[in-house]
Amino acid sequence: MKKANLVIIGSGPAGYTAAIYAARANLEPILFEGFFSGPAGGQLMTTTEVENYPGFPEGITGPQLMENCRNQALRFGTQILTEDVVDVEFSQHPFIVRGRENEFQAASVIIATGATANRLNIPGGNDGEFWQKGVTACAVCDGAMPIFRNRPLFVIGGGDSAVEEATFLTKFGSMVYLVHRRDKLRASKIMQQRALEHPKLKVIWNSEIISIEGDKVVQSVQIRNNLTQQITTHEAGGVFFAVGHTPNTAFLKGQLELDDKAYIKVQPGTCRTSKDLVFACGDVQDHVYRQAITAAGSGCMAAIEAERELSARGITA
Ligand code: NAP
Repeated sequence: MKKANLVIIGSGPAGYTAAIYAARANLEPILFEGFFSGPAGGQLMTTTEVENYPGFPEGITGPQLMENCRNQALRFGTQILTEDVVDVEFSQHPFIVRGRENEFQAASVIIATGATANRLNIPGGNDGEFWQKGVTACAVCDGAMPIFRNRPLFVIGGGDSAVEEATFLTKFGSMVYLVHRRDKLRASKIMQQRALEHPKLKVIWNSEIISIEGDKVVQSVQIRNNLTQQITTHEAGGVFFAVGHTPNTAFLKGQLELDDKAYIKVQPGTCRTSKDLVFACGDVQDHVYRQAITAAGSGCMAAIEAERELSARGITA
């Protein structure tokens, strides 16, 4: 079996940044960028313009930003494998990391597999329909796009993300409607209060969007009231899913401590997991910030921690 100082699993901003730092520390990292599990590059690959990543005053597309990061990781000698990791064994050291084709004995592992924004299967909201043509799952990433300006915008969900995103969207939309399936929000009280008092934000209680319609982009939604079953049609410029995220941790099969929502637990202020020499960075361990820049920052932290820990044990190349 091949040996590696460091295997990085995942290829969003966290994984690529970890690779850049690790490669520059001569760790000769192996990075599994995924294949069937989703687009290499992670959630940014499904975003259009990224305008809040420092260093790009004119903005940059999500795919271009990820290609740049990938090339930067390659430039310093990262070996990138376009395949998914299907299994890991952390009960022994060196650890075993099994891809669909390649298998490594790894002295250390960085997990950067991210989280997937949940989507609802609403007619009109799927790939090939209005997904990314007015339907998205990230208001912070996409909200400032011209198609949403001065249009009625609809956010689905009742948690902190939904309330935060709806409040954020009031900057752009003519009016923002928070469509929630129940009569109570799950969001924290202070965020609820801020949202409920906002003159451009209205909650549509006990309701669900049952279809999304349009031409080239979204133009209207149908909403069903869960109590009365009444269906109403509303003009709409955008629909934002804010119905939670699912961290991509299933492949770990219980080998690391996870929190109650299946995010990897890290020691506060670090990327250290419950297992020595296994680190986690990016959205797979962060359900609060979830930004490309915070993911990249934690990728840098994970690589520095891995390098220091390996050096302290005399394991590095
Ligand atoms: P969440 O708290 O799990 O909320 C998901 C929301 O989506 C819930 O209101 C849920 O409705 C709704 N939902 C789920 N499935 C649905 C479906 N099939 N149809 C319609 N609605 C559906 O997720 P989140 O808001 O992303 O927050 C995740 C974590 O991050 C939380 O711990 C949150 O506090 C934290 N967070 C913090 C901040 C902050 O502090 N600034 C910001 C964002 C997130 P029900 O309520 O009916 O279940």
